Amino acid sequence: MILETFPVGPLQCNCTLLGDEEAGEAIVIDPGDEVSRIYRRMADLGLKLKQILVTHAHIDHVGGALKLKRLTGAPILLNENDLPLLKMMEQQAAWLGVPTPEVTGPDASLVDGMKVGLDRYPARVLYTPGHTQGSVCLHFEPLKMVIAGDTLFAGSIGRTDLPGGNSRQIIHSIETRLMVLPDATRVLPGHGPATTIGAERNSNPFLTLR
Ligand SMILES: [Zn+2]
Repeated sequence: MILETFPVGPLQCNCTLLGDEEAGEAIVIDPGDEVSRIYRRMADLGLKLKQILVTHAHIDHVGGALKLKRLTGAPILLNENDLPLLKMMEQQAAWLGVPTPEVTGPDASLVDGMKVGLDRYPARVLYTPGHTQGSVCLHFEPLKMVIAGDTLFAGSIGRTDLPGGNSRQIIHSIETRLMVLPDATRVLPGHGPATTIGAERNSNPFLTLR
């Protein structure tokens, strides 16, 4: 198994490459930027891209998705409730003072319970709105791992002051969809270091100080 997470772009979004060397296949999660680097790494490893999974439509997570699709032919999957954010790409780019990336609608919506990923390393989509209305997490149960996007961070949670954000909803999503996972589940957030469900359950101030 190949599991590599590398921060990309000015906001250092954690882009994750998960590959199965035997099957020669890979998925990429949140290719926000630095697509040539991601593409070169897959080419070096001899992996064919099967899916581009996007946890939510903020520019730092989705900005490179179309470029990667054009290079590989892989479909883009993204929850349809974030379509309004995709249409606001120019505004999102203006917030950061970066050029507007070309984006496109998803090939399919990432809906709750959907099975995605690789045959040997499958994931289930957990619909976790709050940071945005289309935010999802990806639970790779056999790997005891969850890709959390900007919903849950080590010691923090995603901001809810941008369009589509809702602070009560994000807490509800975390408590009902993530905190029900086993303590040992590794959490790979959309920014910053990895953590575990157990560590966040015990010490995340946004979850314990309510
Ligand atoms: Zn975000």
